[in-house]
Amino acid sequence: MRKKVIRIAGSRKPKKEFRYEKTNIEWADFTLNLWWGCTKVSDGCDNCYAEKGAKFRFKKYPIWGLGTPRRKISGSFDKLKNLQDEAAAKRVIYRVFVGSMMDIFEKSMDLIDNKGKRLQQTTGELRDKLFTNISGGKYENLMFMFLTKRPSNINKMIPDEWKINPPVNVFFGTSPVSKATAFNFIEHLLKVKGKKFLSVEPLLERISLWPWLKDNLIDFVIVGGESGGERRPFDSEWGRVIMDECAASNTPFFMKQIDKVKSIPYELRIRERPVAVYGCAATNCGAVNDVSYQALNPKPKK
Ligand code: SF4
Repeated sequence: MRKKVIRIAGSRKPKKEFRYEKTNIEWADFTLNLWWGCTKVSDGCDNCYAEKGAKFRFKKYPIWGLGTPRRKISGSFDKLKNLQDEAAAKRVIYRVFVGSMMDIFEKSMDLIDNKGKRLQQTTGELRDKLFTNISGGKYENLMFMFLTKRPSNINKMIPDEWKINPPVNVFFGTSPVSKATAFNFIEHLLKVKGKKFLSVEPLLERISLWPWLKDNLIDFVIVGGESGGERRPFDSEWGRVIMDECAASNTPFFMKQIDKVKSIPYELRIRERPVAVYGCAATNCGAVNDVSYQALNPKPKK
């Protein structure tokens, strides 16, 4: 993972440096996790990389499953403040993917620190703090992409005012991976107000999103197959079906990967992202850092 160092202004040799991680999730600019740990809830979780990483790193303090606490990730709010300051200085908007090692809409759980000590705080309190900060306009240059496999919890956990007037810099997303999860997850997501996206990965069978895309109910779609040693098969045709439906409904489509071993077929090399324009007071910018993926990965000459 690439690391970036921000030097605190005001001294040539700063005593203090803040480090944060650029994300390797290509459809976002940065990743944010307030805690680490979760419980599996769908077929899409079977090979959860966050669980594998946690089992490897925290053998002494289990953080997966219903009966365990979650591990607080310290410095998350400092990271956000620094990202906001940097984005404001550059007059851009960063896309922040929330929840690669956790599910922000999991029910509230106890927390431990990195030495296994029980903390007074809960995950629900961290989530509320983040939402309060967003409501208070602290992150005008950050576009939050909240991804959950528990879309039925969103309306129970967001602030009441978001149910009427959701913040302009928030997207709510869920991860259907099959026909069954598509109908279940998307129907719950549609009960939420505001901008919505689908991260359809790992896609496990051919599905159609047309029932929702045809009426422009979804603002952004990501598709990908599974990676890693236990990856399940992915057929490029499944990706083409959704890509065509997105084109027909004018919905941004982002093809993430086949399996990280095979390259993406040329015609599927589409990486669109929603344009981050929301007229924020600080920047009035229309930050677009999209690239033409096909242009960067041209078709090989015969
Ligand atoms: S919801 Fe996400 S983080 Fe939680 S177990 Fe499933 S894949 Fe892993």
